[in-house]
Amino acid sequence: MKYLCPTCDKEVAVGTHCPRCTKISSPKPRERKSWEQEETADGLDLPDEDFDYDDFIAREFGKAPHRKTSIAWYWYLVAVALLTLMIIGIFR
Ligand SMILES: [Zn+2]
Repeated sequence: MKYLCPTCDKEVAVGTHCPRCTKISSPKPRERKSWEQEETADGLDLPDEDFDYDDFIAREFGKAPHRKTSIAWYWYLVAVALLTLMIIGIFR
């Protein structure tokens, strides 16, 4: 016995899946594959088991501590200057 596939109108033996539509619906594992690839790509940006916290700290704070401190002082002085100007403007 055969029937016409309601999706593609192809003659298919009863009790079996339409081979044409099975091929069309097979992108499911493909989607999974691309999803897995994206997941792997995302994982590359994130620190994994290889992440060395001590090394990270050494790199972040060991390379240019003076530069970081000078930037912090600069913005601290700017903030204080702005606040002083605002207070002077309010109480004038
Ligand atoms: Zn079909």
